[in-house]
Amino acid sequence: MSLRFEAINNLTAEKEPVIKYSPVKVTSIFRENVFTLEKARMFLTDEAYKSLSASIKGGKKIDREMANQIAIGLRTWAESKGVTHYTHWFQPLTGTTAEKHDSFFTLKGDGSAIDQFDGDALIQQEPDASSFPSGGIRATFEARGYTAWDPTSPAFIYEVGLGKTLCIPTIFISYTGESLDYKAPLLKALDAIDTAAVDVARYFDRNITKITPTLGWEQEYFVVDEGLANARPDLIQCGRTVFGASPAKGQQLEDHYFGSIPERVYNFMLDFETVAYKLGIPLKTRHNEVAPAQFEVAPIFEEVNIAVDHNILLMDLMTRVAKRHKLKVLLHEKPFAGINGSGKHNNWSMATDTGINLLAPGKTPKTNLLFLTFFVNTIKAVHTYSDILRASIASASNDHRLGANEAPPAIISVFVGSALRQVLDDIETRVTDKFDEQDEAILKLDLHRGIPEVLLDNTDRNRTSPFAFTGNKFEFRAVGSLANCANAMVSLNTIVAQTLKDFKKEVDALIEGGTKKEIAIMQIIQKYIKESKDVLFEGDGYSDEWEKEAEKRGLPNVKTTPLALDALSTEKAKKLFTENGVYSDRELEARHEIELENYLKKVQIEARIMGDLALNHIIPVAIKYQNTLAQNIKNLSDAGLPESSYAAQKDILSKVAKHIEEIYNNGASMIKARKVANKIEDIRERAISYEKDIKAAYFETIRYHVDKLEALIDNEEWCLPKYRELLFLR
Ligand code: ADP
Ligand code: MG
Repeated sequence: MSLRFEAINNLTAEKEPVIKYSPVKVTSIFRENVFTLEKARMFLTDEAYKSLSASIKGGKKIDREMANQIAIGLRTWAESKGVTHYTHWFQPLTGTTAEKHDSFFTLKGDGSAIDQFDGDALIQQEPDASSFPSGGIRATFEARGYTAWDPTSPAFIYEVGLGKTLCIPTIFISYTGESLDYKAPLLKALDAIDTAAVDVARYFDRNITKITPTLGWEQEYFVVDEGLANARPDLIQCGRTVFGASPAKGQQLEDHYFGSIPERVYNFMLDFETVAYKLGIPLKTRHNEVAPAQFEVAPIFEEVNIAVDHNILLMDLMTRVAKRHKLKVLLHEKPFAGINGSGKHNNWSMATDTGINLLAPGKTPKTNLLFLTFFVNTIKAVHTYSDILRASIASASNDHRLGANEAPPAIISVFVGSALRQVLDDIETRVTDKFDEQDEAILKLDLHRGIPEVLLDNTDRNRTSPFAFTGNKFEFRAVGSLANCANAMVSLNTIVAQTLKDFKKEVDALIEGGTKKEIAIMQIIQKYIKESKDVLFEGDGYSDEWEKEAEKRGLPNVKTTPLALDALSTEKAKKLFTENGVYSDRELEARHEIELENYLKKVQIEARIMGDLALNHIIPVAIKYQNTLAQNIKNLSDAGLPESSYAAQKDILSKVAKHIEEIYNNGASMIKARKVANKIEDIRERAISYEKDIKAAYFETIRYHVDKLEALIDNEEWCLPKYRELLFLR
């Protein structure tokens, strides 16, 4: 029996519930496995506690002696929960997380066994990391990078399966100090925006001393039966199906969205949510998404650094927990053709240490100006640096969404809603050279009157916009479901930081020239609105008209990753990232190279899988069916029946033959194209060739013929689980 039918049979077989679930209040388990400051209070000396908490709150450095004390406290806590091993937990540029476990257990010089975990082990580890991507930064002779503790993200105990491991969030850098991960540049970008935003916010409120960007991601994902997935080598190896005919019923009835959650998936959700709560991930919502077998999970927003860690941790734990439910989670942006793909909306704002959300319209005219300042600076940042934002979400898998007739388009535009559009238009026309204090007071009042409308307006969202203002935050929707949010967050926070710095400079210059502060602010806001209003778009982002209109406005529309990544090698990008201390030139070059390499490797793997499936799965089955048909035709003819009685068979036979031929020939040409591409020295050119000469030239064609065969060939013989099974059987 083929794996396909075995999996289908197993599905209907009687099953025991995989986990025993006893409902508990979330508050009673929340952060159970996190070394929070409250736990630190219990397990650390006063001194050590103060040092840790000062480091978390104010970025103060922790010295060796204190680190030793913190390590002892951490170990005591972890051991009280049955932990025997620890690991530095980091986010290399492979897109997953990395761990290397060490036990507390060690042997002393005299041979006696003890448990030990000291400050050195807490602060720094040297994983032999020569096989992590480094874009040539780490020559092999200096293969060791090292991980360094990030005290701002609390340590946690990861407990899946039998083992429990103490995980210490770290950054990952080369021996020469360059970042090799997502977290190190993220922390730098967060620093940059903190400084720049505080400088601007203090025009309004001298009490503001720290600004923390916030992130609430919405993670979309698919869930399929593990047995069925295992019978699809493409799902296992590329995370998406490279073939598969559309089922009779897909998502056209739209009966899945917000529908009742299927029981097996529901059990899985309860299970992973419990693990997540213990890890302090504040999950809030779960629901069905638009496509069949597609779901979404979203937390309450947190500081960006913590939210990023929580997202990548959740992606990992969902994948692991699914196994015990015999399910497979698909985080890929486009696991199935013909139905919706998955994104990860990044809801983003900035919070002050005085408790104000800078992107929430204010309650008074004065706080409104504060809001407008940050609101308009963000729009200006997106306009000026839309190429850099686009590059931050580019990946082989996200290319299947962006610009591929799906949400959202590859053109970066901003949706603000009609009420705020009106506000911006008012400012643009009313703030003139002769603008005086009285005008300013009247304008402020007028704007303030419009604000309730803004709040109403933004409940009616435009779903097609890649970057939408949704009432009290921007929602960056173009981020891919498989991506580490850090990439998008590094770029977004850096471009806003830079824009705020420029804003401050321009306002200060006016003030020095004798303009009153609030008028100066209004004038620069007006200038920024004028300069960046081309990026504002309220219409249907998927329409062809928008593509044309965007082109007229000069907005970039780059549909493929290798070209989108060009934005990382411009002088503009270098200036932006170096001046904000986020990436050195060398780091930026390395990122660019790594992303290109990731891209082409992904496409290469898909091409190989296609060839492999075609030759080992599809063509053999087709030939078998051909023989059945041929034999049948011969039998009928031998029996003296007229040709008309086997005309249908002949027709099918010739079609099958044609498709086999096309698959085979295109497959062979694709291999040749790969050989040519592989010889291209320049990595950018090579990636472009992989996109153009391999993916675009062959993937759709080969798929077309395979999917036709799927529709022609005896269902009993077809060995790859079909879409209708993957999407609907559970
Ligand atoms: P939806 O977009 O699905 O209608 P919500 O608007 O309620 O849902 O929120 C979506 C996400 O936005 C949630 O994760 C929520 O925590 C997050 N969010 C809300 N306010 C902020 C904020 N100030 N900063 C960042 N994220 C936020
Ligand atoms: Mg949303």
